[in-house]
Amino acid sequence: MKKGVPMSAPDISEAEREAVASVLATSQLSIGPKLEAFEGSVSRLTGMRHAVGVNSGTSGLHLSMIAAGVGRGDMVITTPFSFVASANCILYQDGIPVFVDAEPGTGNIDPDQVAQAASDLKHGGERARQWLPSRLRAAASTRHGSLRAILPVHVFGQPANMYAMREIGCMFDLVVVEDACEAIGGQYRGRQAGSIGDAAVFAFYPNKQMTTGEGGMIVTNHDRWADLFRSLRNQGRDVFDAWLNHSRLGYNYRLDEMSAALGLAQLNRLDELLSKRQRVVQWYTERLKDIEWLELPHVAETTTRMSWFVFVVRLAPHVDRSRLMSALQAEGIPSRPYFQPIHLQPFYVERFGYRRGDFPVTEQLARTSLALPFFSTMLESQVDRVSDTLIRVGRQTAITRAEAQASS
Ligand SMILES: *Cc1c(COP(=O)(O)O)cnc(C)c1O
Repeated sequence: MKKGVPMSAPDISEAEREAVASVLATSQLSIGPKLEAFEGSVSRLTGMRHAVGVNSGTSGLHLSMIAAGVGRGDMVITTPFSFVASANCILYQDGIPVFVDAEPGTGNIDPDQVAQAASDLKHGGERARQWLPSRLRAAASTRHGSLRAILPVHVFGQPANMYAMREIGCMFDLVVVEDACEAIGGQYRGRQAGSIGDAAVFAFYPNKQMTTGEGGMIVTNHDRWADLFRSLRNQGRDVFDAWLNHSRLGYNYRLDEMSAALGLAQLNRLDELLSKRQRVVQWYTERLKDIEWLELPHVAETTTRMSWFVFVVRLAPHVDRSRLMSALQAEGIPSRPYFQPIHLQPFYVERFGYRRGDFPVTEQLARTSLALPFFSTMLESQVDRVSDTLIRVGRQTAITRAEAQASS
């Protein structure tokens, strides 16, 4: 049997192995020079004054919600077309994620709807209630807090419309936190992803463009936020005061030295890593561009550099995705629906009463999307194999579905 193709894979060179080994030769395995160097590097890349390393992207998003002042019942406008962590971080603070739908092209949050939601939620009353999840809308007793923030996500490595986000943030006095977990090195109108909001968060899980194993990084230009992040990631210890002086409820969200060393070595290769991913996209594009039952990813005009996180195609409505996925899997080729909408995750349905149909664009994107194997070290022969198999089994599943329709 032929060896399967992985869905994703980290790209680790000798430089990374040496960097991690050199940390292990010291006695400082946490809170040391590698973290500081890694933070300095991310700060230089983004041009942001502060970068604070944390142990995951999710931790970084959580701390950003604390800095944004999100507390019980406070609202944050965000998108349901994302990985669940971008809404969960609001729930950690007992806040309410107010979802607005995505744009059909990029899958990023729709700025017009963000503006409308912000305006209505600030206005209050009936106009505000229509944006709330149905379970909260129905409960007459619900006393919600204030609208605090906008949390756009740079979906699949493509920056959201950040000038619009910033403008809406200014107009309605809202914090803007960029979930840049999928977008390190991406550019919006020539500006680095993560450099426009009040804070932005990157993530370094092994399937991302660069990895620390587990890890994340928050960037901000607010001096006081940076101090707050450093305190909160380290059990609430005061950054200036004496050792063991815990001024606030904190967490253990520290990034260890091995991870930081790995991250630093990966960041030094970021251009190379992103170019290799771009090359894989090019290979896929050449092979799939004329297949009439699928659509290639959309790159917006404002995206001056795509930081390809995943390669997601859209299937025509008559293609039976689950059959296609099983047929691919049977030939050793994994694929994934990307994303499963957050509002339809069982936990969100139960807690907020969301229903199918609440966010039609998101649901349509989710229903038709298919992520193919994608990683920087992918060989052209692997892209060939995935593409050839996809084209062959795709034709079969499409026909089967058409026959099914004809006979029904
Ligand atoms: C990966 C990711 C995260 C979370 O990152 P972790 O490091 O796994 O916690 C958050 N948001 C989005 C959109 C992501 O893709």
